[in-house]
Amino acid sequence: MSEINSEMVKELFEEQFGSWEQARNNYKALDGVLAKEIQVDGFPFKVQFNPARIVSSAAKVDAKSIQERKCFLCKENRPAVQKGIDFLYKGKDHYTVLINPFPIFSRHLTIPMECHQDQLIKGRFDAMLELARQLPDYTIFYNGPKCGASAPDHFHFQAGIKGFMPIESAPLKMKVIYHSPKTTLSRLTSVMNGVIVMESNSIEDAAGVFDKIYSSLKVKEGESEPMLNILCWYDNGSWAVIIYLRSKHRPECFFKEGEDNILISPASVDLGGVFITPLEKDFTKITAGDISSILSEILISSEEFEATIEKIKSIL
Ligand SMILES: [Zn+2]
Repeated sequence: MSEINSEMVKELFEEQFGSWEQARNNYKALDGVLAKEIQVDGFPFKVQFNPARIVSSAAKVDAKSIQERKCFLCKENRPAVQKGIDFLYKGKDHYTVLINPFPIFSRHLTIPMECHQDQLIKGRFDAMLELARQLPDYTIFYNGPKCGASAPDHFHFQAGIKGFMPIESAPLKMKVIYHSPKTTLSRLTSVMNGVIVMESNSIEDAAGVFDKIYSSLKVKEGESEPMLNILCWYDNGSWAVIIYLRSKHRPECFFKEGEDNILISPASVDLGGVFITPLEKDFTKITAGDISSILSEILISSEEFEATIEKIKSIL
């Protein structure tokens, strides 16, 4: 089976910038977006004012709206100019690597499955790790169907060029909760609750540990999987995986009116340390206190996290 690599992705960007005006302009606009740093509990959050992301942040993802729109990840509905690179996992799961025309990163990919299937990570975590291995310049991420995915009905990963999200390099306070020769699990002990960090040198072992974590998590009534965001990258023979356990899709400030409104719909990138504000008023006014309270609202509570950690420890 032939593999993909970062060079092929580089060529894809060059080709698309030459042929696709909208994408070219959106990437160019990224050079001019405003950004600032806000420290939260010693962690350097970036806040990015990115008006083009309103499409995603304000996306209607209720069942009715999803049913009534044409799926933008299905091949037949994608713009004719959009090209992709095939990624075949274990000879069966077919993905296409596409450039994301509404970028947050200077290089931003969307990686949908060929067929229209629900956004569910179960059984696909190993494919995510394999993608990270084949694209070591990128951090791969997964937004659960109720955790920021704007196409909850069509399975996809995304990827952003490494070196942009603070979580990749900021020193993190962690405590080890499980250790084996192949895989170590830790919990974050500062900045935010409900975050598990996995380090592993084996896809099979990491996938086995992930399945156990997954089976320990609660699934809300009427939902198809536990609320999750996942980031993962590969470096020098091993994988780093960050798993965010969520309790809520959008914070209250998203729905508030007037002064109290902050239009922010946090997903993997925000949790990786880059808060995206599509509206300038929010970029200007957001404080460390706002970020902190949004995080504690959308991630699971410390009581639930303690109980979950104990459950995971008991089955590993
Ligand atoms: Zn689709």
